[in-house]
Amino acid sequence: MPELPEAETITREISGDLQDRRITAVRVTHDDILMNREGEAAFARDVVGRRVTRVERRAKYPLLWLDDELVLEVQLRMTGRLMVRREPPDPSRFSHVEVEMDLDDGTATLYYDDQRRLGGFRLLTAEEWTEREGDLGPEPVDPEFGPELLATILDGRRAAVKNLLMDQRRLAGVGNIYASESLHRAGVDPRRPAGSLGAEETRRLSRSLQDVLEAAIRHFGTSFRDYVGADGRPGDFQNHVLVYGREGEPCPGCGSPVRRIVQSGRSTFFCPDCQA
Ligand SMILES: [Zn+2]
Repeated sequence: MPELPEAETITREISGDLQDRRITAVRVTHDDILMNREGEAAFARDVVGRRVTRVERRAKYPLLWLDDELVLEVQLRMTGRLMVRREPPDPSRFSHVEVEMDLDDGTATLYYDDQRRLGGFRLLTAEEWTEREGDLGPEPVDPEFGPELLATILDGRRAAVKNLLMDQRRLAGVGNIYASESLHRAGVDPRRPAGSLGAEETRRLSRSLQDVLEAAIRHFGTSFRDYVGADGRPGDFQNHVLVYGREGEPCPGCGSPVRRIVQSGRSTFFCPDCQA
């Protein structure tokens, strides 16, 4: 499932093609991809004729602002892909195109493809978006993020620190891969109660969250399974993970075997010696 770096990569890749383009037509293959709209006709009424005034990312979601009034939030979930193409995508690779949006330069089309159809589009008014954004925590890649802010997020919390990092209401954009990697780089046991971290550990964790996410963005995200960017290229950060998916392999820091445990139904990878 795409996390912050993958959503950021896709957003950057589509933004140049979409910025200031007007939507001239839409085609929807499966209505269930429109998560809060009734169907193609209603969706078309809302978006056709509108101009893409901003393309940005918040948390794990690419956002298209339409006339600065509506927000099209894209939830990529397991297999969702966004791409802008001059030609229809190769049907042998993209046989599940769910939404096509023609753009006013006459040739380019935005495609949303989702093999498992778990993701989709949510169309929100600016007010609805503001309300929704109120449920999202701060972004670890924001310049204002740092040890002081992280300390207020962790303070007094009895939940395991790994689960807290993945709680989108507390901190936005971090999922399973980057939570394990950040905790490893900070030398923090993922099972520790969040509120038990000392000032020095909080400082290291703040730094490692930023470092890991920024490195993953530079490597165009992580592709263990389905993820590819808007240009069809897989990410590369899977070649730079230290513990994620490496159960039984030697820890790069100390050589001890990497352990896998399950927390809240998700795998956590860590080094029992470096993260004691
Ligand atoms: Zn180790």
